[in-house]
Amino acid sequence: MIKDDTVEKIIDESQQGSTLALEHREKNTRKLYIESYGCQMNFSDSEIVASILSKEGFNTTQDLAEADLVLVNTCSIREKAEQTVRKRLEKFNAVKRTNPHMKVGVLGCMAERLKSKFLEEEKIVDMVVGPDAYKDLPNLIQEIDEGRNAVNVILSKDETYGDVAPVRLNSNGVTAFVSITRGCDNMCTFCVVPYTRGRERSRDPQSILEEVNDLWEKGFKEITLLGQNVDSYLWYGGGLKKDFDKASEMQKATSVNFAKLLELVAQAQPKMRIRFSTSNPQDMTLDVIEAMANHENICNYIHLPVQSGSNRILKAMNRLHTREEYFQLIDNIRRIIPDCAISQDMIAGFPTETEADHQDTLSLMEYVKYDFGFMFAYSERPGTLAARKLADDVPEETKKRRLQEIIALQQKHGLYRTQQHVGKVEEVLIEGTSKKSDAHWMGRNSQNTVVVFPKEHYKVGDFVNVKINDCTSATLIGEAVEYSKNN
Ligand code: SAM
Repeated sequence: MIKDDTVEKIIDESQQGSTLALEHREKNTRKLYIESYGCQMNFSDSEIVASILSKEGFNTTQDLAEADLVLVNTCSIREKAEQTVRKRLEKFNAVKRTNPHMKVGVLGCMAERLKSKFLEEEKIVDMVVGPDAYKDLPNLIQEIDEGRNAVNVILSKDETYGDVAPVRLNSNGVTAFVSITRGCDNMCTFCVVPYTRGRERSRDPQSILEEVNDLWEKGFKEITLLGQNVDSYLWYGGGLKKDFDKASEMQKATSVNFAKLLELVAQAQPKMRIRFSTSNPQDMTLDVIEAMANHENICNYIHLPVQSGSNRILKAMNRLHTREEYFQLIDNIRRIIPDCAISQDMIAGFPTETEADHQDTLSLMEYVKYDFGFMFAYSERPGTLAARKLADDVPEETKKRRLQEIIALQQKHGLYRTQQHVGKVEEVLIEGTSKKSDAHWMGRNSQNTVVVFPKEHYKVGDFVNVKINDCTSATLIGEAVEYSKNN
């Protein structure tokens, strides 16, 4: 999977801007249209919002023209993400001319970043709601129903939505996200997330296990534990990660870290595939890698963003590790889990980046030979440390050229990695019909690589052993051999 900054998408490109459809409740009389942009956390949050509003009399619609309420869950990570949302607001404005009763709410990171300024800048917007305020939506909607604008952008110390059962009805019924932490304390100098999603807090492991068990009961076969920095997960009875020092001895002794949580989830549902995202190299410990190796159902795949291969730039980004420490981590992963896939996020053209820094990035990529990559040109975000302290001084055409070189190298490595699967028989979980052929299934192997193969008698949700016959730089092509023992 190769992403560049010309398409403003982080994880699943096909999902961007998609609307969410809910189960139809007979007694619900109003219609909600909800659209999501950005990272997996945002899609997961939209499922929470939809769940809250289904109890407030809203059925979802995918027809904008008939909506009583339009919600757009927004992303601020790069400027282009925000431009996409502004364009959508223009479209909503046009619809409002024929449907004047329609109300428009902006949710998520852009709402948090711009706060009530949004109401001044975009006259069409009636309601602005930050990522920690979704439980207040019933009150806010009442406000706008009575003709007033409504804003709640208060960030919370303990909100994790652990008590809201998200709605999954628009999913493939096979894979689901389970949110485990909210916010981020890393303060990477380029990143807007700590400002838009607040301080880091972890969700009660008991509520995570309940959600996972419930998903298994409903037929789901794979979950992805989600957080901005999952390896930093720490439950000690609630509260911010940064306040762990102040916890009682008892709280400390009974605390649950990410490796422990992984084990609890893997043991609770031994046939459920477990993935997690995103890992920050500075917080990924050996016990996490060992937990992966000890449990067959934890997938052999780590998304391990590095952002740059230059020690000088890593420091300027406030990434709290060096290139050499990153290599050590990669070596440990390869030693403990030899067939583990690793993917990256990379930023081209961070302020002050020289040609030599860029070459360090390319040589780091040569060392790791990532399976996948998500690559971006640096986009200055207002309010971040980098924006306040460093001039955005790498010319646009240099950023673009460096990004293209990174993408080309990633494509080469992607092909090298997919070729290693050819000739092997690998377990694939079927997710749905291939986009390119109705006669083929699409699924993923443990390493998260997409596999397509003829459908035969298999069905969505089956675990199938597939012989890999061919590949492109991002896809494996094979044929089913038999059901896998996990079925
Ligand atoms: N929490 C993860 C981490 O710190 O590694 C990922 C956070 S972010 C939602 C996803 C990716 O967007 C980042 O890993 C980074 O590559 C990219 N990104 C974040 N801020 C950016 C910026 N100002 N310009 C360009 N890319 C950015």
